[in-house]
Amino acid sequence: MPHLSLHDSQRRATVPFTPLDPEHVKVYYCGPTVYDLAHIGNLRAMLTADVLVRLLRFTYPRVTFVRNITDVDDKITARAHANGEDIATLTARTTEEFHADLAAMNVLPPDIEPRATHNIAEMQALISRLIENGHAYAADGHVLFSVASFPSYGALSGRDPEELVAGARVEVATYKKDPGDFVLWKPSGQDQPGWESPWGRGRPGWHIECSAMSHRYLGESFDIHGGGSDLLFPHHENERAQSLCCFPQGKFANYWVHNAMLLVEGEKMSKSLGNFLTIRDVLAQAPAEALRLLLLGAHYRSTLNYTVAGLQDARKTLDRFYRALAAGPVPQASVPQTVLAALADDLNTPLAIAELHVLAGQALAGDRAAAGALKAGAGMLGLLQEDPEVWFKGEASEEDAAIDTLIAERLAAKKARDFAKADALRDQLQAQGIVLEDTKEGTNWRRA
Ligand SMILES: [Zn+2]
Repeated sequence: MPHLSLHDSQRRATVPFTPLDPEHVKVYYCGPTVYDLAHIGNLRAMLTADVLVRLLRFTYPRVTFVRNITDVDDKITARAHANGEDIATLTARTTEEFHADLAAMNVLPPDIEPRATHNIAEMQALISRLIENGHAYAADGHVLFSVASFPSYGALSGRDPEELVAGARVEVATYKKDPGDFVLWKPSGQDQPGWESPWGRGRPGWHIECSAMSHRYLGESFDIHGGGSDLLFPHHENERAQSLCCFPQGKFANYWVHNAMLLVEGEKMSKSLGNFLTIRDVLAQAPAEALRLLLLGAHYRSTLNYTVAGLQDARKTLDRFYRALAAGPVPQASVPQTVLAALADDLNTPLAIAELHVLAGQALAGDRAAAGALKAGAGMLGLLQEDPEVWFKGEASEEDAAIDTLIAERLAAKKARDFAKADALRDQLQAQGIVLEDTKEGTNWRRA
Protein backbone atom coordinates (compact mmCIF):
# COMPACT_ATOMS: atom_id res chain seq x y z
CA MET A 1 0.00 0.00 0.00
CA PRO A 2 1.50 3.40 -0.98
CA HIS A 3 1.87 5.75 2.00
CA LEU A 4 -1.06 8.12 2.43
CA SER A 5 -0.41 11.85 2.33
CA LEU A 6 -3.04 14.48 3.04
CA HIS A 7 -3.27 18.23 2.71
CA ASP A 8 -3.52 19.50 6.28
CA SER A 9 -5.21 22.90 6.48
CA GLN A 10 -3.37 23.86 9.66
CA ARG A 11 0.12 22.94 8.39
CA ARG A 12 -0.92 24.46 5.02
CA ALA A 13 0.93 21.65 3.25
CA THR A 14 0.48 18.14 1.95
CA VAL A 15 2.17 15.92 4.50
CA PRO A 16 2.51 12.17 5.17
CA PHE A 17 -0.34 10.90 7.32
CA THR A 18 0.83 9.19 10.53
CA PRO A 19 -1.98 7.97 12.80
CA LEU A 20 -1.72 8.58 16.55
CA ASP A 21 -2.43 4.85 16.95
CA PRO A 22 -1.94 2.76 13.78
CA GLU A 23 -4.21 0.11 15.31
CA HIS A 24 -7.12 2.52 15.52
CA VAL A 25 -7.61 5.58 13.30
CA LYS A 26 -10.18 8.17 14.41
CA VAL A 27 -12.04 10.58 12.14
CA TYR A 28 -14.61 13.28 12.88
CA TYR A 29 -16.72 15.13 10.30
CA CYS A 30 -19.26 17.87 10.92
CA GLY A 31 -22.64 16.52 9.84
CA PRO A 32 -25.78 18.24 8.63
CA THR A 33 -28.06 20.70 10.39
CA VAL A 34 -31.33 18.87 9.83
CA TYR A 35 -34.02 21.29 8.65
CA ASP A 36 -34.17 20.69 4.90
CA LEU A 37 -33.11 18.28 2.13
CA ALA A 38 -29.35 17.96 1.63
CA HIS A 39 -27.99 19.76 -1.44
CA ILE A 40 -25.14 18.70 -3.69
CA GLY A 41 -22.75 21.10 -1.90
CA ASN A 42 -23.37 19.18 1.35
CA LEU A 43 -22.89 15.98 -0.60
CA ARG A 44 -19.38 16.97 -1.69
CA ALA A 45 -18.14 16.98 1.93
CA MET A 46 -19.90 13.67 2.67
CA LEU A 47 -18.37 12.10 -0.45
CA THR A 48 -14.86 13.36 0.35
CA ALA A 49 -15.21 11.78 3.80
CA ASP A 50 -16.51 8.57 2.21
CA VAL A 51 -13.49 8.15 -0.08
CA LEU A 52 -11.10 9.04 2.76
CA VAL A 53 -12.70 6.56 5.16
CA ARG A 54 -12.84 3.79 2.52
CA LEU A 55 -9.10 4.27 1.95
CA LEU A 56 -8.32 4.35 5.68
CA ARG A 57 -10.33 1.14 6.21
CA PHE A 58 -8.42 -0.49 3.38
CA THR A 59 -5.12 0.54 5.00
CA TYR A 60 -5.61 0.26 8.76
CA PRO A 61 -7.14 -2.52 10.89
CA ARG A 62 -9.66 -0.31 12.69
CA VAL A 63 -11.23 3.05 11.86
CA THR A 64 -13.85 4.90 13.89
CA PHE A 65 -15.69 7.48 11.84
CA VAL A 66 -17.96 9.87 13.76
CA ARG A 67 -20.29 12.26 11.94
CA ASN A 68 -22.76 14.25 14.01
CA ILE A 69 -26.30 15.42 13.44
CA THR A 70 -27.00 19.03 14.47
CA ASP A 71 -30.61 18.85 15.62
CA VAL A 72 -30.77 22.07 17.64
CA ASP A 73 -30.25 25.30 15.74
CA ASP A 74 -32.15 28.53 15.17
CA LYS A 75 -32.65 27.60 11.50
CA ILE A 76 -34.44 24.44 12.66
CA THR A 77 -36.64 26.37 15.09
CA ALA A 78 -37.55 28.92 12.38
CA ARG A 79 -38.36 26.22 9.82
CA ALA A 80 -40.49 24.22 12.27
CA HIS A 81 -42.48 27.38 13.08
CA ALA A 82 -42.88 28.19 9.37
CA ASN A 83 -44.06 24.62 8.65
CA GLY A 84 -46.34 24.58 11.70
CA GLU A 85 -44.77 21.35 12.97
CA ASP A 86 -42.82 20.22 16.05
CA ILE A 87 -39.07 20.53 16.00
CA ALA A 88 -38.77 16.80 16.76
CA THR A 89 -40.97 15.87 13.78
CA LEU A 90 -38.97 18.12 11.45
CA THR A 91 -35.55 16.88 12.59
CA ALA A 92 -36.61 13.20 12.54
CA ARG A 93 -38.00 13.49 9.01
CA THR A 94 -35.03 15.47 7.68
CA THR A 95 -32.56 13.05 9.27
CA GLU A 96 -34.34 10.14 7.59
CA GLU A 97 -34.25 11.94 4.23
CA PHE A 98 -30.54 12.65 4.69
CA HIS A 99 -29.86 8.97 5.41
CA ALA A 100 -31.92 7.86 2.40
CA ASP A 101 -30.14 10.32 0.04
CA LEU A 102 -26.69 9.27 1.24
CA ALA A 103 -27.60 5.58 0.95
CA ALA A 104 -28.77 6.21 -2.63
CA MET A 105 -25.37 7.80 -3.28
CA ASN A 106 -23.60 4.74 -1.80
CA VAL A 107 -22.05 6.88 0.94
CA LEU A 108 -21.30 4.46 3.78
CA PRO A 109 -22.83 5.38 7.17
CA PRO A 110 -20.55 6.58 9.99
CA ASP A 111 -19.73 4.20 12.86
CA ILE A 112 -21.24 6.65 15.34
CA GLU A 113 -23.73 9.38 14.51
CA PRO A 114 -24.32 11.37 17.71
CA ARG A 115 -27.11 13.92 17.91
CA ALA A 116 -26.49 17.28 19.52
CA THR A 117 -29.64 17.07 21.67
CA HIS A 118 -28.40 13.79 23.17
CA ASN A 119 -25.16 15.46 24.28
CA ILE A 120 -26.32 18.58 26.13
CA ALA A 121 -24.84 17.38 29.45
CA GLU A 122 -21.43 16.90 27.78
CA MET A 123 -21.62 20.42 26.34
CA GLN A 124 -22.50 21.88 29.73
CA ALA A 125 -19.56 20.01 31.31
CA LEU A 126 -17.18 21.51 28.74
CA ILE A 127 -18.60 25.00 29.25
CA SER A 128 -18.21 24.73 33.05
CA ARG A 129 -14.63 23.62 32.57
CA LEU A 130 -13.89 26.59 30.29
CA ILE A 131 -15.33 29.00 32.89
CA GLU A 132 -13.26 27.36 35.66
CA ASN A 133 -9.99 27.64 33.77
CA GLY A 134 -10.57 31.24 32.73
CA HIS A 135 -11.38 30.77 29.04
CA ALA A 136 -15.07 31.64 29.29
CA TYR A 137 -17.42 33.90 31.25
CA ALA A 138 -21.14 34.09 31.94
CA ALA A 139 -22.94 37.35 31.21
CA ASP A 140 -26.61 38.18 30.83
CA GLY A 141 -27.80 34.54 30.47
CA HIS A 142 -25.04 33.88 27.91
CA VAL A 143 -21.72 32.13 28.26
CA LEU A 144 -18.98 33.42 25.98
CA PHE A 145 -15.60 32.08 24.99
CA SER A 146 -12.89 34.66 25.61
CA VAL A 147 -10.81 34.77 22.44
CA ALA A 148 -8.11 36.87 24.11
CA SER A 149 -7.50 34.01 26.60
CA PHE A 150 -6.22 31.70 23.85
CA PRO A 151 -3.08 33.04 22.11
CA SER A 152 -3.24 30.41 19.36
CA TYR A 153 -6.68 31.61 18.20
CA GLY A 154 -6.57 32.04 14.41
CA ALA A 155 -3.75 29.51 13.90
CA LEU A 156 -5.97 27.02 12.08
CA SER A 157 -7.60 29.37 9.59
CA GLY A 158 -4.54 31.60 9.34
CA ARG A 159 -6.52 34.68 10.28
CA ASP A 160 -5.10 37.46 12.34
CA PRO A 161 -7.09 37.81 15.60
CA GLU A 162 -6.80 41.63 15.43
CA GLU A 163 -8.38 41.60 12.00
CA LEU A 164 -11.12 39.23 13.19
CA VAL A 165 -11.97 41.55 16.05
CA ALA A 166 -12.13 44.52 13.67
CA GLY A 167 -14.51 42.59 11.43
CA ALA A 168 -16.76 41.64 14.32
CA ARG A 169 -16.98 45.18 15.66
CA VAL A 170 -20.04 45.94 13.55
CA GLU A 171 -22.40 43.92 15.73
CA VAL A 172 -21.00 44.10 19.24
CA ALA A 173 -23.40 42.75 21.84
CA THR A 174 -23.36 44.48 25.23
CA TYR A 175 -22.64 41.23 27.11
CA LYS A 176 -19.38 40.65 25.18
CA LYS A 177 -16.09 41.69 26.82
CA ASP A 178 -14.41 41.54 23.45
CA PRO A 179 -16.15 41.76 20.05
CA GLY A 180 -14.51 38.52 18.84
CA ASP A 181 -15.85 36.44 21.76
CA PHE A 182 -18.31 33.78 20.66
CA VAL A 183 -21.33 32.12 22.24
CA LEU A 184 -21.08 28.80 24.08
CA TRP A 185 -24.54 29.02 25.64
CA LYS A 186 -27.47 31.37 25.08
CA PRO A 187 -30.81 31.94 26.79
CA SER A 188 -33.97 30.47 25.24
CA GLY A 189 -37.35 32.16 25.09
CA GLN A 190 -40.58 30.23 25.77
CA ASP A 191 -41.01 29.30 22.09
CA GLN A 192 -37.42 28.12 21.71
CA PRO A 193 -35.93 24.75 22.68
CA GLY A 194 -34.07 25.00 26.00
CA TRP A 195 -32.40 23.02 28.76
CA GLU A 196 -31.86 23.92 32.41
CA SER A 197 -28.28 24.95 33.14
CA PRO A 198 -26.20 26.78 35.78
CA TRP A 199 -26.65 29.87 33.54
CA GLY A 200 -30.43 29.59 33.22
CA ARG A 201 -32.68 27.85 30.71
CA GLY A 202 -30.96 27.98 27.35
CA ARG A 203 -29.42 26.17 24.43
CA PRO A 204 -25.86 25.57 23.21
CA GLY A 205 -24.02 27.57 20.56
CA TRP A 206 -23.26 25.55 17.44
CA HIS A 207 -19.46 25.26 17.87
CA ILE A 208 -19.52 23.64 21.33
CA GLU A 209 -21.58 20.74 19.96
CA CYS A 210 -18.73 19.34 17.91
CA SER A 211 -16.16 19.82 20.70
CA ALA A 212 -18.44 17.85 23.05
CA MET A 213 -19.31 15.04 20.63
CA SER A 214 -15.77 14.54 19.30
CA HIS A 215 -14.46 14.41 22.88
CA ARG A 216 -17.11 11.95 24.01
CA TYR A 217 -16.57 9.50 21.15
CA LEU A 218 -12.95 10.03 20.07
CA GLY A 219 -11.20 11.52 23.12
CA GLU A 220 -8.91 14.52 23.61
CA SER A 221 -6.79 13.71 20.56
CA PHE A 222 -7.86 12.13 17.32
CA ASP A 223 -6.48 11.88 13.81
CA ILE A 224 -8.55 13.73 11.24
CA HIS A 225 -11.22 16.39 11.41
CA GLY A 226 -12.95 17.32 8.18
CA GLY A 227 -15.65 19.36 6.52
CA GLY A 228 -16.30 21.92 3.80
CA SER A 229 -13.94 24.90 3.52
CA ASP A 230 -16.84 27.14 4.59
CA LEU A 231 -16.49 25.57 8.07
CA LEU A 232 -12.81 26.49 8.49
CA PHE A 233 -13.71 29.84 10.00
CA PRO A 234 -15.30 30.42 12.39
CA HIS A 235 -16.67 26.93 13.13
CA HIS A 236 -13.49 24.86 13.15
CA GLU A 237 -11.34 27.65 14.57
CA ASN A 238 -13.81 27.89 17.48
CA GLU A 239 -14.06 24.12 17.97
CA ARG A 240 -10.28 23.98 18.19
CA ALA A 241 -10.11 26.86 20.67
CA GLN A 242 -12.75 25.29 22.94
CA SER A 243 -11.27 21.79 22.86
CA LEU A 244 -7.63 22.81 23.36
CA CYS A 245 -8.60 25.12 26.25
CA CYS A 246 -10.65 22.34 27.88
CA PHE A 247 -7.96 19.68 27.36
CA PRO A 248 -4.57 21.41 27.05
CA GLN A 249 -2.75 18.05 27.19
CA GLY A 250 -4.59 16.84 24.10
CA LYS A 251 -4.05 17.68 20.44
CA PHE A 252 -7.73 17.82 19.43
CA ALA A 253 -7.47 17.08 15.65
CA ASN A 254 -4.02 16.14 14.36
CA TYR A 255 -4.94 16.73 10.66
CA TRP A 256 -7.58 19.02 9.18
CA VAL A 257 -9.10 18.16 5.80
CA HIS A 258 -11.26 20.71 3.98
CA ASN A 259 -12.98 20.27 0.64
CA ALA A 260 -13.51 23.22 -1.71
CA MET A 261 -16.94 24.54 -2.67
CA LEU A 262 -19.16 23.61 -5.57
CA LEU A 263 -20.53 25.86 -8.32
CA VAL A 264 -23.61 25.14 -10.43
CA GLU A 265 -23.12 26.06 -14.11
CA GLY A 266 -20.34 28.44 -13.02
CA GLU A 267 -22.33 30.23 -10.31
CA LYS A 268 -22.42 30.00 -6.56
CA MET A 269 -25.43 27.92 -5.49
CA SER A 270 -28.05 30.08 -3.79
CA LYS A 271 -31.78 30.17 -3.23
CA SER A 272 -32.00 33.67 -4.79
CA LEU A 273 -30.38 32.52 -8.06
CA GLY A 274 -32.80 29.57 -8.20
CA ASN A 275 -29.91 27.16 -8.87
CA PHE A 276 -30.12 25.43 -5.52
CA LEU A 277 -29.90 21.71 -6.28
CA THR A 278 -30.78 19.02 -3.77
CA ILE A 279 -29.42 15.49 -4.15
CA ARG A 280 -32.99 14.47 -5.03
CA ASP A 281 -33.24 17.04 -7.84
CA VAL A 282 -30.20 15.50 -9.51
CA LEU A 283 -31.24 11.88 -8.88
CA ALA A 284 -34.51 12.59 -10.70
CA GLN A 285 -32.42 13.24 -13.83
CA ALA A 286 -29.55 10.76 -13.65
CA PRO A 287 -28.38 7.61 -11.89
CA ALA A 288 -26.66 8.12 -8.53
CA GLU A 289 -23.36 6.75 -9.84
CA ALA A 290 -23.28 9.46 -12.53
CA LEU A 291 -23.54 12.17 -9.85
CA ARG A 292 -20.95 10.35 -7.74
CA LEU A 293 -18.53 10.11 -10.68
CA LEU A 294 -19.09 13.75 -11.59
CA LEU A 295 -18.28 14.93 -8.05
CA LEU A 296 -15.23 12.66 -7.76
CA GLY A 297 -14.01 13.84 -11.17
CA ALA A 298 -12.56 16.97 -9.54
CA HIS A 299 -9.95 16.87 -6.79
CA TYR A 300 -11.61 17.67 -3.45
CA ARG A 301 -9.50 20.80 -2.99
CA SER A 302 -10.45 22.26 -6.40
CA THR A 303 -13.66 24.14 -6.95
CA LEU A 304 -16.08 21.82 -8.70
CA ASN A 305 -18.36 23.14 -11.40
CA TYR A 306 -21.54 21.06 -11.61
CA THR A 307 -23.11 21.21 -15.09
CA VAL A 308 -25.82 19.22 -16.81
CA ALA A 309 -23.32 18.51 -19.61
CA GLY A 310 -20.86 17.17 -17.01
CA LEU A 311 -23.56 14.91 -15.61
CA GLN A 312 -24.24 13.53 -19.12
CA ASP A 313 -20.51 12.99 -19.67
CA ALA A 314 -20.26 11.11 -16.36
CA ARG A 315 -23.09 8.87 -17.48
CA LYS A 316 -21.34 8.14 -20.80
CA THR A 317 -18.13 7.32 -18.95
CA LEU A 318 -20.06 4.85 -16.80
CA ASP A 319 -21.65 3.37 -19.95
CA ARG A 320 -18.11 2.69 -21.19
CA PHE A 321 -16.98 1.20 -17.87
CA TYR A 322 -20.06 -1.04 -17.69
CA ARG A 323 -19.57 -2.12 -21.32
CA ALA A 324 -16.05 -3.14 -20.33
CA LEU A 325 -17.48 -5.27 -17.50
CA ALA A 326 -20.28 -6.71 -19.65
CA ALA A 327 -17.96 -7.79 -22.48
CA GLY A 328 -17.07 -11.07 -20.71
CA PRO A 329 -16.44 -12.69 -17.33
CA VAL A 330 -15.15 -10.41 -14.55
CA PRO A 331 -12.58 -12.30 -12.46
CA GLN A 332 -11.98 -11.44 -8.78
CA ALA A 333 -9.02 -9.07 -8.50
CA SER A 334 -7.27 -6.95 -5.93
CA VAL A 335 -7.42 -3.16 -6.06
CA PRO A 336 -4.82 -2.06 -8.64
CA GLN A 337 -1.71 -0.29 -7.31
CA THR A 338 -2.22 2.57 -9.81
CA VAL A 339 -5.61 3.40 -8.24
CA LEU A 340 -4.28 3.06 -4.68
CA ALA A 341 -1.28 5.27 -5.46
CA ALA A 342 -3.58 7.97 -6.88
CA LEU A 343 -5.86 7.92 -3.83
CA ALA A 344 -2.95 7.79 -1.38
CA ASP A 345 -1.68 11.03 -2.98
CA ASP A 346 -4.07 13.35 -1.10
CA LEU A 347 -7.15 11.55 -2.49
CA ASN A 348 -6.40 12.26 -6.13
CA THR A 349 -9.74 10.94 -7.43
CA PRO A 350 -9.38 12.43 -10.97
CA LEU A 351 -6.13 10.47 -11.40
CA ALA A 352 -7.78 7.32 -9.99
CA ILE A 353 -10.59 7.73 -12.55
CA ALA A 354 -8.01 8.20 -15.33
CA GLU A 355 -6.51 4.85 -14.24
CA LEU A 356 -9.99 3.27 -14.48
CA HIS A 357 -10.19 4.53 -18.08
CA VAL A 358 -6.91 2.76 -18.89
CA LEU A 359 -8.24 -0.50 -17.39
CA ALA A 360 -11.57 -0.13 -19.23
CA GLY A 361 -9.67 0.27 -22.52
CA GLN A 362 -7.71 -2.92 -21.83
CA ALA A 363 -10.88 -4.77 -20.82
CA LEU A 364 -12.71 -3.66 -23.97
CA ALA A 365 -9.75 -4.98 -25.99
CA GLY A 366 -10.34 -8.42 -24.45
CA ASP A 367 -8.16 -8.38 -21.31
CA ARG A 368 -10.48 -9.89 -18.68
CA ALA A 369 -7.94 -9.50 -15.86
CA ALA A 370 -8.17 -5.74 -16.54
CA ALA A 371 -11.97 -5.99 -16.20
CA GLY A 372 -11.48 -7.52 -12.73
CA ALA A 373 -9.04 -4.76 -11.80
CA LEU A 374 -11.47 -2.14 -13.12
CA LYS A 375 -14.26 -3.47 -10.89
CA ALA A 376 -11.99 -3.65 -7.81
CA GLY A 377 -10.49 -0.20 -8.42
CA ALA A 378 -13.89 1.41 -9.00
CA GLY A 379 -15.07 -0.19 -5.74
CA MET A 380 -12.56 1.97 -3.82
CA LEU A 381 -14.49 4.97 -5.20
CA GLY A 382 -17.86 3.36 -4.48
CA LEU A 383 -18.52 3.03 -8.23
CA LEU A 384 -19.55 0.18 -10.60
CA GLN A 385 -21.70 -1.38 -7.89
CA GLU A 386 -24.56 -2.22 -10.29
CA ASP A 387 -24.98 -5.29 -12.41
CA PRO A 388 -24.11 -4.11 -15.99
CA GLU A 389 -27.41 -5.60 -17.16
CA VAL A 390 -29.32 -3.44 -14.65
CA TRP A 391 -27.23 -0.35 -15.50
CA PHE A 392 -28.15 -0.55 -19.19
CA LYS A 393 -31.71 -1.77 -18.89
CA GLY A 394 -32.90 -0.50 -15.53
CA GLU A 395 -34.53 -2.94 -13.14
CA ALA A 396 -36.13 -5.90 -14.96
CA SER A 397 -39.78 -5.16 -15.58
CA GLU A 398 -42.80 -6.26 -17.59
CA GLU A 399 -41.69 -3.73 -20.16
CA ASP A 400 -38.40 -5.65 -20.53
CA ALA A 401 -40.35 -8.83 -21.25
CA ALA A 402 -42.33 -6.96 -23.94
CA ILE A 403 -39.07 -5.71 -25.49
CA ASP A 404 -37.66 -9.25 -25.50
CA THR A 405 -40.85 -10.45 -27.26
CA LEU A 406 -40.49 -7.79 -29.99
CA ILE A 407 -36.82 -8.70 -30.45
CA ALA A 408 -37.75 -12.37 -30.80
CA GLU A 409 -40.43 -11.45 -33.39
CA ARG A 410 -37.86 -9.38 -35.29
CA LEU A 411 -35.42 -12.33 -35.29
CA ALA A 412 -38.17 -14.63 -36.59
CA ALA A 413 -39.01 -12.08 -39.32
CA LYS A 414 -35.34 -11.91 -40.36
CA LYS A 415 -35.13 -15.71 -40.50
CA ALA A 416 -38.23 -15.72 -42.69
CA ARG A 417 -36.50 -13.02 -44.84
CA ASP A 418 -39.35 -10.60 -44.10
CA PHE A 419 -36.96 -7.64 -43.81
CA ALA A 420 -39.69 -5.02 -44.02
CA LYS A 421 -41.29 -6.44 -40.86
CA ALA A 422 -37.90 -6.77 -39.14
CA ASP A 423 -37.08 -3.11 -39.91
CA ALA A 424 -40.52 -1.98 -38.75
CA LEU A 425 -39.98 -3.77 -35.41
CA ARG A 426 -36.55 -2.14 -35.04
CA ASP A 427 -38.13 1.29 -35.71
CA GLN A 428 -40.87 0.58 -33.19
CA LEU A 429 -38.28 -0.25 -30.52
CA GLN A 430 -36.20 2.77 -31.45
CA ALA A 431 -39.24 4.98 -30.99
CA GLN A 432 -39.44 3.58 -27.43
CA GLY A 433 -35.82 4.59 -26.86
CA ILE A 434 -34.43 1.06 -27.23
CA VAL A 435 -31.16 0.66 -29.11
CA LEU A 436 -30.42 -2.77 -30.61
CA GLU A 437 -26.95 -4.19 -31.13
CA ASP A 438 -26.76 -7.31 -33.32
CA THR A 439 -23.85 -9.59 -32.40
CA LYS A 440 -22.81 -13.12 -33.33
CA GLU A 441 -24.34 -14.35 -30.08
CA GLY A 442 -27.67 -12.63 -30.65
CA THR A 443 -29.26 -9.22 -30.22
CA ASN A 444 -28.41 -7.05 -27.20
CA TRP A 445 -30.45 -4.03 -26.26
CA ARG A 446 -30.09 -1.03 -24.03
CA ARG A 447 -31.98 2.16 -23.30
CA ALA A 448 -30.66 5.14 -25.28
ZN1 LIG B 1 -18.40 20.85 13.67
